[in-house]
Amino acid sequence: MMGDSMAGRGILSVVSGFSGSGKGTIMKALLKKYDNYAVSISATTRQMRSNEKPDLDYFFISDREFERMIADDELYEYACYQDHYYGTPKRYVDEQLDQGKDVILEIEVQGAEKIKARFPDTVLIFVTPPSARELKNRLVGRGTETADRIEGRLKRAAEEADLMDRYDYILVNDQLDACVDQLDEILRTEHKKASRNKELIKQLSEELQTLTKGE
Ligand code: 5GP
Repeated sequence: MMGDSMAGRGILSVVSGFSGSGKGTIMKALLKKYDNYAVSISATTRQMRSNEKPDLDYFFISDREFERMIADDELYEYACYQDHYYGTPKRYVDEQLDQGKDVILEIEVQGAEKIKARFPDTVLIFVTPPSARELKNRLVGRGTETADRIEGRLKRAAEEADLMDRYDYILVNDQLDACVDQLDEILRTEHKKASRNKELIKQLSEELQTLTKGE
């Protein structure tokens, strides 16, 4: 089970971001460059896109199977986003954390809040392009969306922006390489927090007490 952070156990973090922020690309580049991270694979009831692979990008499942997973308590969180279910299966997250990997959940804002409430140690990171204009350019540049859908995504981004200050870190995705390194640096710094090193602190103080005994 997931409890307090223990020595050797990985850190759980959430990366959220506007649609078009490039968070998926950042995750892929991070996994390619560093081997101490794992990105959780979510379950979803939405249709698979042509550039996606089953069981790699998502577990694409039916509503019925998703509802079974909810009933059997197999998810750490789930949310409804644009009429589809999205959720984080517990098993993979636990396995990876136990192996000492830092696990990243790439999920939207409601899911982030649920995870933070359940595991207060979670690091919340929000990815954004440098400006709203740049966000629009990226959505238009993809060439895959109608003007209506782009409008919808920008409206949703405006709502999500109101929740950005609940995150621990804001990561500006200006240049991919730099952004990947900054994400790595944030997580490395998190490992150094005193609150995540209780075992080490305890051990040092016990050793010091033994050393100073009799002096
Ligand atoms: P997309 O359909 O574009 O892949 O994802 C839509 C949104 O759902 C994105 O913001 C993505 O981060 C979020 N999402 C993906 N998986 C999960 C999940 O397991 N839980 C929650 N709450 N959101 C998710």
